[in-house]
Amino acid sequence: VARNPHEPEFQQAVHEVLESIAPVVEEHPQFAENGILERLVEPERQIMFRVPWIDDAGKLQVNRGYRIQFSSVLGPYKGGLRFHPSVNLSIIKFLGFEQIFKNALTGQGIGGAKGGSDFDPHGRSDAEIMRFCQSFMSELWRHLGEHTDVPAGDIGVGSREIGYLFGTYRKITNRHESGMFTGKGVQWGGAEVRTEATGYGTVFFAQEMLAVHGEAFEGKRVIVSGSGNVAIYAIDKARQLGGLPVTASDSSGYILDEDGVDVALLRQLKEVERARISEYVVHRPRAKFFEGAQPWEVPGEIILPSATQNELEEPAAHALIAGGARVVAEGANMPTTPGAVAAFQHAGVLFAPGKAANAGGVATSALEMSQNAARQRWNFSDSESKLQAIMKDVHDAAFDAAARYGRPGDYVVGANSAGFERVAHAMIAQGVI
Ligand code: NDP
Repeated sequence: VARNPHEPEFQQAVHEVLESIAPVVEEHPQFAENGILERLVEPERQIMFRVPWIDDAGKLQVNRGYRIQFSSVLGPYKGGLRFHPSVNLSIIKFLGFEQIFKNALTGQGIGGAKGGSDFDPHGRSDAEIMRFCQSFMSELWRHLGEHTDVPAGDIGVGSREIGYLFGTYRKITNRHESGMFTGKGVQWGGAEVRTEATGYGTVFFAQEMLAVHGEAFEGKRVIVSGSGNVAIYAIDKARQLGGLPVTASDSSGYILDEDGVDVALLRQLKEVERARISEYVVHRPRAKFFEGAQPWEVPGEIILPSATQNELEEPAAHALIAGGARVVAEGANMPTTPGAVAAFQHAGVLFAPGKAANAGGVATSALEMSQNAARQRWNFSDSESKLQAIMKDVHDAAFDAAARYGRPGDYVVGANSAGFERVAHAMIAQGVI
């Protein structure tokens, strides 16, 4: 805390991990002797830079860019870029720290990093987005590379932004180095299923949680927040499995569609028109829009928070429990506050943290890197089967570790312990570095 003042999200993420891995450190005294924890909470490298660009009115704008290269002990730094006005050092550090354990859990040989900018893409023209991305990459390129650091998308960074960022890197370096970025368009080196991977993976994870108790998605109401990349494909897969997702949201409010959210309409509004979620009810008269509210007041059995950090607070958790919540799987990173997590666990609701439940996105990014390295392109159904198998492995690793450390069914302890063990053993093997 003394070394990282004014970084509440980073402190929250570190606290959650350190608290839950105490039994792991007790069982492996060599982790304490080698200063694993002291080293892990200090990023290997932190990069902050100026991003100047000219808007459509000819006015100069200045944003701040970040890349926090947290750990490369298991592989090249890997983690997304976020463009959102709320971005600051604390948020990028919390995301980078979480990414270390998430990436370790996938078993794919990737390190942990995160980056982004306080740039707000909402309401900006295509030309402004391009100029911003070009300026951002004109500094960041020197820190990247397929064996060094491989970014991807996150909030505010989708296929359009990745295209402009990749194009700038290619121009500056004179290298068409496919493996230096993931989430690329499938026509120019991207992998099938990467777009769907985080949302699909979260649902596959929830499916595994249900299966432990002999249950399935079929016939269950699903409450989803967000309407971006993760939320859209979580809704899509939940419907394919026979669930009934009834909500979606953005920062202006949420929609409730008792007939089940229409995925094609949601994609058209959000991916093509970049419209607000309130537009949904114009096309679906039976659906309702609740301005300024969150979907947590709607009853349902499966809860998939998929928008942003700390969006589900303790009172909302109590409302969801009263509404029959059985399973919570985080599609977003740290969307559930510590008080809300405790409330769910106290009530016997199964709770899976994002570092396990949303690992499908980065796992599929690692598959994209493999395809790029081998100059191959795998088809959709093979790629989806691989994603499903990885999510089962991530689930089982977390589930087994929880049981091993005396907390059966506690996916927070399980995910943190399993991810930490893998990182810690590699750090010891590679020496004090
Ligand atoms: P998108 O930018 O595609 O969508 C974000 C969604 O969340 C939008 O609906 C947005 O609404 C809403 N949102 C963002 N910030 C806020 C806020 N402060 N308050 C309320 N709503 C907000 O991002 P993604 O879907 O890619 O990411 C969502 C979450 O999933 C993030 O936590 C991200 O870190 C995590 N994640 C994403 C992965 C990926 O592969 N994309 C991988 C693993 C995790 P609005 O447009 O109004 O801002």
